[in-house]
Amino acid sequence: MHDIAIIGGGASGLACAVAACEAALRGGRKPPSIILIEVTEKIGRPILRSGNGRCNFSNAHIHPHAYNDPQGFAAVAEALERHSAGLPSSVNPVVGFFERLGLIWREEPEGRLYPLANKASVVLDVLRSPLLRFGVEVRCSAAVERIVPPKAQHSHFTIHLRGGELMRARKAVVAAGGAAGAFGLEELLPYVQPVPVLGPLMTDNRFTRPLDNVRVRCSASLLRQGERLAEERGEVLFRKYGVSGICIFNLSRLAQQGDVIRLDLLPDEADPWALMGSRLKTLSQVMAKAPSNYELLQGAVLPLVADQILKSLGLEGAQEATRESATRLAERLSAFDLPVQGIGDASLCQVHRGGFALDAFDPETLEAKEVPGLHVLGEALDMDGACGGFNLHWAFATGLLAGWSLA
Ligand SMILES: Cc1cc2nc3c(=O)[nH]c(=O)nc-3n(C[C@H](O)[C@H](O)[C@H](O)COP(=O)(O)OP(=O)(O)OC[C@H]3O[C@@H](n4cnc5c(N)ncnc54)[C@H](O)[C@@H]3O)c2cc1C
Repeated sequence: MHDIAIIGGGASGLACAVAACEAALRGGRKPPSIILIEVTEKIGRPILRSGNGRCNFSNAHIHPHAYNDPQGFAAVAEALERHSAGLPSSVNPVVGFFERLGLIWREEPEGRLYPLANKASVVLDVLRSPLLRFGVEVRCSAAVERIVPPKAQHSHFTIHLRGGELMRARKAVVAAGGAAGAFGLEELLPYVQPVPVLGPLMTDNRFTRPLDNVRVRCSASLLRQGERLAEERGEVLFRKYGVSGICIFNLSRLAQQGDVIRLDLLPDEADPWALMGSRLKTLSQVMAKAPSNYELLQGAVLPLVADQILKSLGLEGAQEATRESATRLAERLSAFDLPVQGIGDASLCQVHRGGFALDAFDPETLEAKEVPGLHVLGEALDMDGACGGFNLHWAFATGLLAGWSLA
């Protein structure tokens, strides 16, 4: 029997295993016996695929409002700060943990933190080495199906693997991500069925379908019944089914069917109507005749985008532009509206919303209040964050707190 069984060899599970051993050694004790159970044939795959293979592992400006449950996040973040008092930490306790393991990192725009080597594999390397050194047992290609808590005090958790094998451990840690399910624990703990978020959106695609794979720099807002709920700036990628890109991923965390994504293709222009009026005047002078509607858009947006803007307004590109058409084009350039129909491609979503309700757990340890000895981490909890390193930060933060407390 092991002291600790960790289910899931991804971000939170690996951090938890290393932190438990690190804390035991710091306290002058020998590391606990840990088994890490992973369904795929290798540990750390979610880390390797993160950040386009570069692993945006944390952010220099972590703040509770980047998460769906700011209060819950703040409670865990405060606990993490308290428990890491005295440990060197240059930006936040998660970064401090990786620095102790030898990771050198760099900051990119918007506070995104990446390994200096620019490869996710080095983040995995610094986690994997201590696991080997501390003798953590790793069992890959083993799918956990059910976790049964102890029936009596001082008894053990029973972990049921696919194929019928049983494992026993004094403590169990669920670190299996957002899509793994509840392992039968939903009978004991509040659990919300997870749905994929932080991904592309499916929208009315009459005008986006012909723009598949075209990128525009713009501002994107999410509107509900005319009210602006959120705004993001950056690159939007048109897809056959709708829109994608980091801005859209972030808006997808709030979007519902019936909302509208409004693209402003002239995001720095305070008065697009004045701009289009003056373009009409200037181009008329330069060309010695009024420009066509298409020519009025030329130089402002890509030709394919111009085609769809004209089509959406029912304007002929070759027709001579007028004050009226310039006004309508200005309106459309600053408000290209796409009604939201849902998530575009769930396989591209980066996290799940839902899982075990955080308030059923002690924020200091991530131990279930009603099931002593059971800890739940990372995406398996009902917490998701924006793009920018916030989700891995959460996974590592919960892994550290649980690991330190288990030691
Ligand atoms: C393409 C992509 C890119 C991303 N990039 C970033 C990024 O750059 N920055 C960022 O902050 N976030 C990013 N994320 C999100 C981030 O990867 C997750 O939020 C984070 O990995 C969650 O950590 P976790 O430990 O909860 O789960 P995971 O890291 O997903 O680990 C769960 C592990 O459990 C295993 N498992 C599942 N079921 C079982 C089972 N039944 N038995 C045994 N093992 C099981 C899985 O195989 C997996 O290895 C990205 C996500 C995706 C999909």
